[in-house]
Amino acid sequence: MAMRLGPFSPPSMVAFSLLLETISATPFVHLVYTDNSTCLDFRAVPACFGPPLSHAGIVGNLVEAVPGNACQPVEAPPASNQTPSGFILLIRRYDCPFGTKVLHAQRAGYQAALIHNLYSDRLVSMDVERPETREQIRIPSLFIGGSASKLLRRHLRSGKTIQVSTVIPRDYENPCWDPSEYAVLDYSTRHHDLRFWPGYCTQRMIIRFLEEFGFLILLGLVLSSFILAGWVKWRHRRHSARTRTFQRGDPYDLCVICMADFEEGDRLKILWCGHAYHHTCIDTWLLIQPKTGKTCPICKQEVRVAT
Ligand SMILES: [Zn+2]
Ligand SMILES: [Zn+2]
Repeated sequence: MAMRLGPFSPPSMVAFSLLLETISATPFVHLVYTDNSTCLDFRAVPACFGPPLSHAGIVGNLVEAVPGNACQPVEAPPASNQTPSGFILLIRRYDCPFGTKVLHAQRAGYQAALIHNLYSDRLVSMDVERPETREQIRIPSLFIGGSASKLLRRHLRSGKTIQVSTVIPRDYENPCWDPSEYAVLDYSTRHHDLRFWPGYCTQRMIIRFLEEFGFLILLGLVLSSFILAGWVKWRHRRHSARTRTFQRGDPYDLCVICMADFEEGDRLKILWCGHAYHHTCIDTWLLIQPKTGKTCPICKQEVRVAT
């Protein structure tokens, strides 16, 4: 999605990236976790409250909320000053309104909140009912599916430091920004179905592959098209006939169509199977044969007639 293309990116790659962005226009942003050996990419839906996400996105170290549902004040982020990017709180859905959870994260000092579904991957556009809560919220929050949270928590519990970031498609538009749609739908019933499309990690892998092997693939395609064209030409020539003037000593003696011996100066036509006839005899023979089944009178092999 928000792929960084270098100044020397081949045009095919730019086009590929644009194609991906066009097709994958969704109400999602991507939540990405990468380290040397892992790249996890989850779809996430930003909330309908709090500051809008900037295209620069959010980067931060993930911390699991205690208590998990953040319905009461939560534990503050670890006192590490080695994380200039700040902390993002992972919170379980249910038990209290979304706004309450995000406010608790904000008050404890987190720079963003990530609320996950339970036992489901459906994504919800989170909203708050009370205007006073809306006014208090100053940090962004996102909603992710249950499977995504399971994977993230597994990594967290293995003691890893997980830095996640959001990748925002260039054409991303929060459905909350559309007032007509927003007025009709109740926030609690607005679900987004996941649909299959290669995520950020897969796309990054494809782009890297193209960066490394794109030129070779292109070269391979050009070469194979030359080989194919040559083969077609060869096959055509192989099935066509050639003409020559009969000379004494030629390895042909009789035209089986008119049953006359060849004489010096006769114009012969030699089919690709090697059988020779008088030029006019074989032309007449081929003319009276069906268009799609012209064969050599002796060996019955196919003869291609130039049109
Ligand atoms: Zn003949
Ligand atoms: Zn033949």
